[in-house]
Parts: sequence; C-alpha cells; structure tokens
Amino acid sequence: MLPSTANFIAGLPKAELHVHHVGSARPETVAELAARHPDSPVPKDLDGLRRFFTFTDFAHFIEVYLSVVDLLRTPEDLRLLTYEVIEGLAAQQVRYAELTMTPYTSVVRGIPIEAYTEAIEDARVAAERDHGTVVRWVYDIPGESGVPPAADATIGYAVDHAPDALVAFGLGGPEIGVPRAQFAPHFARAQAAGLHSVPHAGESTGPETIWSAIRDLGAERIGHGVRAVDDPELVAYLVQHGIPLEISPTSNLATRVVERIEDHPVRALRDAGVTVTINSDDPPMFGTTLNREYALAAEVLGLDAAGLAALARTAVDVSFAPEEVKADVREQIDGYAASA
Ligand SMILES: [Zn+2]
Repeated sequence: MLPSTANFIAGLPKAELHVHHVGSARPETVAELAARHPDSPVPKDLDGLRRFFTFTDFAHFIEVYLSVVDLLRTPEDLRLLTYEVIEGLAAQQVRYAELTMTPYTSVVRGIPIEAYTEAIEDARVAAERDHGTVVRWVYDIPGESGVPPAADATIGYAVDHAPDALVAFGLGGPEIGVPRAQFAPHFARAQAAGLHSVPHAGESTGPETIWSAIRDLGAERIGHGVRAVDDPELVAYLVQHGIPLEISPTSNLATRVVERIEDHPVRALRDAGVTVTINSDDPPMFGTTLNREYALAAEVLGLDAAGLAALARTAVDVSFAPEEVKADVREQIDGYAASA
C-alpha cells in the first residue's frame, strides 16, 4: 500500500452501506458508557478496553458485542453511542451511511421502542447538523433470536414505530440453523410498507442461502454474499438482475469465512460483473475502519485512484439515499478525484 493511496482514501468522500450500530462502538465510547455503569464487567480504562476488543475467536466477538449491548441502559446511552458512531464515520469522509440497527436487543433490555426511536433520531439529526453526514437506518432481525419473538417484534418496530430515516429491513446473526425462508412474511410486510430488503446471506453458508434471500425475502442487496462465487448460475443471476453485494473483507477474515485475503472471492465476483461495494461491518471489533477496507480492496482488486473513486460512486448508486443526497455525494467524489 503506497502512502499516497492511503491519503487518497482518507480524503475520498464515501458511502457506507453495511455497518452495525453496536458493532461500531469505539473503545472511547465504551469507556464512557462503562464509567456510567460501574457494575458492568467491561474494563473502564482505554488500555484495558483495547485488549478486551482484541478478540480471539467468534465466541469472544459475541461476548464483546453483548457486553456493549448490556451497557446501553438508557435512551441517553443510545444517543451517545449513535452520535459517536456517526462522528467516527464523518471523520473518515463518509458522507452517507446506512446504519444497521437491532432495536430488539435494546427493547428486551428495558428501553421502550418509542424511547429507542427518539434517541437514535435525535442523534442522527444532531450528527448530520454537526458533521454533515447523512444517515439512514436498516432495522434487522437478530437471526439467533428466531421467530417469534425477535422477528415479530422487529417488523412491528419497523412498521408501527418507523423512525423518519428508516429505509430498509435486514436479517443478521448466524446463518447455520437459521433458514432465511421462515422470515418471508416479515420481509413481505416490510416491503409492503415501502422498506427495501437487505438480508445477510452467503456469509457462513453457501449459495443456496443467497437464492433463498432473493426468492423468499426479495433481497435487493445481499449482506456479504461472498459464497455466491461457488455457483456460476447465481453469479449470472446477480449480474443480470443488478443485485449488489455488500462486501466486508476484514470481517470475512476475522470470522474465518475466508482464510487469506489473497483468496477473497471479491475479485472473482467483480471480474464476473457482479456489482460489489466495500463496507466495514463491525469495524472496531474487527480492528478495522472503512478506510482500511478500501485499502484492502485496492490491493485485492488492483484499483488505482480512479478505481477507488468508482468504488465509492458504486456505493452511492446502489444506496437508498434520497436522490439529492446521491447527486451531492457523487459530485463530491468527482470533484475530489479530479483535484487529487
Ligand atoms: Zn453484518
């Protein structure tokens, strides 16, 4: 990685389409939340937290993730986390982001959905005012919690309590033992309410899960979708129907979906004509940032500055941003690329 490439990426206006709210909590934010709630087992000092965040395997990742969820006890905690996540995106020149929220995990811990909605919307409006980054929400079903109650509750939040900025409906968590098809009624309701469908699929299981996400859940973009590479017919379908993949390279390495970055399927998928976007998933927990993911993409995909600008533009194009926001961010990307 040439220093000039890293600088170019750092200044490049970008859109982030696959990033989880709690999974984006920065150690600084977690330290503040832990200080507010001294009974929590989470370390209160930054050095201890950085060690805590260096996760050793997937089970440890889940432990860290849930310990942060447990620190979100009041609407003010949620507001702080949300504001600081957006602030961290803005510092990386992310001008538009779709942030995946899992309201169910907070509601079951005692924050009413009305207070949840108000807190995140308040943070979004304040962060856009202060930093200029436009944010839209994706509400996702935590797959591990099953149907009912998590899926039934989440579609209720999305339809009956929709915040102004909600644009899409998702499904996260494990894929093994969590067939996509059981969520068909929830996604049908979401789409009937005007929400886009963006389930995770083909991360830890094969192409059949992606087929199911498309056929049963009406997926318009696929979260991860890297295993599409194993099915040429599916690859052709994704190309023909213009269904993009939300790729997060470091996440795939951390969860051992891909063993080595050189083996990442993103190159074969891109070369076959699939629309790919680059995203960060749960960046501090995977020791990464969106800028670092762009740097990895530059290496794996062999991108120069023009290629990186095109990658950023693709994310804008396939986002669910309002048209005027898309036009504005595209213009910023083009202006930056022309002057760099
Ligand atoms: Zn994800």
